[in-house]
Amino acid sequence: MNHLAAQLSWPKVKVLAVADAWALLPVGSTEAHGPHLPLNVDVVIAQEVCRRVGTRLETVEFPAITYSLTEFAAPFAGTVSLSADTARAALIGVLRGIGQAGFRRVCVVNHHLEPAHFKLVHAAASEAQAGTSLRVVVPDHRRKPTGPALGDEFMHGGSHAGCYETSLMLAAAPHLVNEEVRRTLPSLDVDLPGAIKQGATNFLEAGGPEAYFGAPSRATADEGQRLFELIVTATLDAMKD
Ligand SMILES: [Zn+2]
Repeated sequence: MNHLAAQLSWPKVKVLAVADAWALLPVGSTEAHGPHLPLNVDVVIAQEVCRRVGTRLETVEFPAITYSLTEFAAPFAGTVSLSADTARAALIGVLRGIGQAGFRRVCVVNHHLEPAHFKLVHAAASEAQAGTSLRVVVPDHRRKPTGPALGDEFMHGGSHAGCYETSLMLAAAPHLVNEEVRRTLPSLDVDLPGAIKQGATNFLEAGGPEAYFGAPSRATADEGQRLFELIVTATLDAMKD
């Protein structure tokens, strides 16, 4: 069962920590996700993964990290980006705090996939556990075999606000998807990882004038369910002892 830490009293948290429940830390961002999705897409997806993982294990989900390094979406209104140092320090602080609450294992469920951000999440995880008995796991669903199974758009077209993320949103929180706008959006066949390698520093430079890539119009809730199953399986695998 997944317990929401924010809604528990400290004695209840203590009981769960002593019983060796997994702490889950959802990590997202506050950033533009096309004209059809809200700013908190990565947070919603991360929390939904936590909820589903919690149907399989005893888990305590801590309040999400909602601000991160998000330089690619910086040109768009509503995006709030922290510096890498600030984001890393905040994450280390939260992870150490969870350890001090008595939890021995934490799974960082990150769904903000900007490369520099994911890198700092991995760095913060190793720093937080250095010299302590805390175990911090960071599942990375970009890796094989999960990444390729999430589809071609995810691997090569950019996993930002296209079919991949929009399908996950249709499965997790359809009321947050603007269907009228979504259906009218033309597919944007851009190799986002390739554009990043060639030096693009934001979505505009990468050829995404509305902060989306891929094909939001092809998204379905069924595809979202399929994607969640793959991501949850990868997350549970990473949590195995
Ligand atoms: Zn996203």
